[in-house]
Amino acid sequence: MMTGPEAHLSVKALSNNYSILAKLNRKGTLICVLKANAYGHGATEVLQVLEKFGVTVIAVARVCEAKELREVNSNVRIIILQGAPLEDWVWCSENNVELVIHNYHDVNSVTSCDFSYKISVWVKVNLGMNRLGIERDDLVSVIKKILDRKNVEIKGVIGHFSSADLGARGSAMTEQIEFTSLTEHCKQFSKSLYNSSAVLGSLRPRQDFEYERVGLALYGVSPVQQTLKCDAQKLQPVMSFIAPLISIRKISKGEAVSYHGTWVSPRDTKIGVIAAGYGDGYPQNVEGAFVFLNGRRCAVVGVVCMDMMMVELGLDSNDELGDIAVLWGKEVHISEIARAANSTPYELFTRVAARVRRVIVH
Ligand SMILES: *Cc1c(COP(=O)(O)O)cnc(C)c1O
Repeated sequence: MMTGPEAHLSVKALSNNYSILAKLNRKGTLICVLKANAYGHGATEVLQVLEKFGVTVIAVARVCEAKELREVNSNVRIIILQGAPLEDWVWCSENNVELVIHNYHDVNSVTSCDFSYKISVWVKVNLGMNRLGIERDDLVSVIKKILDRKNVEIKGVIGHFSSADLGARGSAMTEQIEFTSLTEHCKQFSKSLYNSSAVLGSLRPRQDFEYERVGLALYGVSPVQQTLKCDAQKLQPVMSFIAPLISIRKISKGEAVSYHGTWVSPRDTKIGVIAAGYGDGYPQNVEGAFVFLNGRRCAVVGVVCMDMMMVELGLDSNDELGDIAVLWGKEVHISEIARAANSTPYELFTRVAARVRRVIVH
C-alpha cells in the first residue's frame, strides 16, 4: 500500500514528447535538458528511458550532475551549461563531457593553457539576458583565439533568449536576429539558441539552428500559453504526482480545518487528508487548487502542512482510505497549480522532494 506521495513517470508520454520535439527540430539534434534532477522527474530515471529512444546529447547545469549521469550512461554527450572549474576539465575530457565557456575567466583559461588532453567547448554569447555569455562584439575574436589552441575543439555557439515565452511581446525576435547575424561569421560551427518556448512559440521566421535545447516541453508542459504549433497540444505530462488518502472525517458547518483555522467550512461536509505536503514539494500557499480523486475534483482546503494536505470530499462522498489522489498530472495540469500558487511549472517540478519515490510506468 502507498503510504506517501510518488511521482510516476510515463514512458509513453516521454516518448510522445520526444518524438514531437525531434520532428519539430527539422535540421538537427535535440539536446534534452536534464538539469535539476530532470526538472524533478529523476535524472537517472529519465536518462534510462531516453537512452532507449536513442538520445545522443543531454545538458545539465553543473559538473556534479554530469558526474552522476555519466555513471548511468557512458556514451551520451553531456553538455554542462554553466561550465566547470578548471580542476574538473580533465575529468570532462576523459568523460566526453562538453563545457560551455561563458565568462572571461574561462576564456582566459581556455586560451592561455596548453592542454595535454582534448577538451570540447561551446562558446556562449550574451544576447541581452545579461546573465552568462561573452559580449557580442568579442565573439569572433574569442573564437579565433580558441581555434589557435591545440586540443580544444569548438562544438558550437550557444545563445539564450531572455523572454522567448513572451513571443512577439518580448525581445526574442531582436535577439534571434542578433544571434543569426553574429553567427554568420562562424558558419563552420553548430548553433544552439532555442529552448522550449522558442520551439513551441510564435517566433517568426522560425530559424533552424542545429541544436535545440528542450527542458519543460520534454516533460510535457508548454511554457507558452498560445502556441502556433498544434503539435504542442499533443504534449503529454510525464509526471503524475500522486498521494493516498490517509484519513476521512465528518465536520459540521462552521468548523475550521488545519493550522490557524484559516478555512472554515460553509457546510456540513467530509474532509479527506492526503499524505503529501510542502515537505514533498506541493506548494504551501495555494488558492483555489484542486486534486483529482475518484473521478472528480476536490478543493484543497486549509493550510497545506509539511506532510499532509486537506481536501473537501463532500457529505455524500464514499472515498476510502488508500484511494489515490492526483496532485498534478493528466487530470490536474501543473500549470493550474502553478497559477494557484503564484508560481511556475518549472519551480513546482524542481521542488518535488527527494523523499518522493520516482516510479517509471511503462
Ligand atoms: C534550462 C535551460 C534550457 C531549457 O529551458 P526550457 O525552457 O525548459 O526548455 C535551455 N537552455 C539553457 C541555457 C537553460 O539553462
